[in-house]
Amino acid sequence: MTLSKNKKQINWVTSSFLIGTALIALTAVPAYIWSYGLDWFQASLFLFYFIATGLSITLGYHRLFSHLAFKAKWPVRLFVLIFGAASFENSALDWTCDHRRHHKHVDHDDDPYDITKGFFYAHMGWLLFRLKPKPPMDNVKDLKKDPLIMWQYRYCHWIGAFVGFVLPAILGWYYGGTTSALGAFLIAGVARVVFVQQMTFLINSACHYFGSQPYSTKCTARDSGFMALFTFGEGYHNFHHEFQHDYRNGVKFWQFDPTKWCIWLLSKVGLASDLRRVSPTKILLAEMAEAQKKIKSALEKPGMVPLQEKTSELIEASQIYIQELSEKINANIQEIQAGLSEKMEMPRRHIRAWRKDIRRGMRHLALLEKSLAYASA
Ligand SMILES: [Zn+2]
Ligand SMILES: [Zn+2]
Repeated sequence: MTLSKNKKQINWVTSSFLIGTALIALTAVPAYIWSYGLDWFQASLFLFYFIATGLSITLGYHRLFSHLAFKAKWPVRLFVLIFGAASFENSALDWTCDHRRHHKHVDHDDDPYDITKGFFYAHMGWLLFRLKPKPPMDNVKDLKKDPLIMWQYRYCHWIGAFVGFVLPAILGWYYGGTTSALGAFLIAGVARVVFVQQMTFLINSACHYFGSQPYSTKCTARDSGFMALFTFGEGYHNFHHEFQHDYRNGVKFWQFDPTKWCIWLLSKVGLASDLRRVSPTKILLAEMAEAQKKIKSALEKPGMVPLQEKTSELIEASQIYIQELSEKINANIQEIQAGLSEKMEMPRRHIRAWRKDIRRGMRHLALLEKSLAYASA
């Protein structure tokens, strides 16, 4: 490959923006805070902008536009389009086009942020280089019918520059003159853009790298409660890839998913409707199938049978327990599937009992695998 060809492949505008904002966030922002401190105005403006632009990506660009997980009235759509532009992650139309391709071709060459090309590539490397000509935008025809989306598509960078950088500076100037304007530009503008972008990038990298896979091992997506804390609840990425049209990512009531809570609140005040939910039975079925897959592959491992003679009663009991669980799951999966086709839901207490069984089974399995590794070492 010649150098001239390489040069053409670099995405100069995006690369300069990403590197420039990161450099300012690492140098000018700490220098400003060191010299002038951080007062309540700067801190609140940062927080407001961080939440408004962050949620515009997770609630707006992601769950609303990319996955049509719910319907939203125009004030919500306008808000997420304006603050989405201020997050500098391109227009909603471009973002959705990339994201739908990510779900369709996940872990393969046509996935724009394919994790198999490395952690950094999936994180932000894919944005620095354009390795191919821009693919056709043939998967966002539905969104092209929305005049608000097309308006944002046309003026995205202008809206972003005004709302994301100029407006905080104006507000800062009103509050405390030139110094305050500079602070608002640096903190609520530049540093906040870097924070929100890194948050989004982590979903494409870390959420395909760290965490558990309770719903599916078909792709690299993983669930991580820790990542959910930094990503407005998008850390439950294994669930999301398995059930992408569900408005929830953290599907259990105790999981940290502020995006889900906001959508639910919007529906309560009439600004959102048609919230899509996968039935609890279907979710349990996925968990059962995944547990079954893990049990099967563990039981098939060489050394699993001779292990019985060598190890303690506890381990034998574990093996018997998960073997029985495996048979129980086998018998039940067909029954549940038959029920689902007749639109029958399992009673909640049965679902809870099954989850408990699966969790216990997985604990026994972890113990068995550990013993196996110990015995074969
Ligand atoms: Zn993903
Ligand atoms: Zn998605």
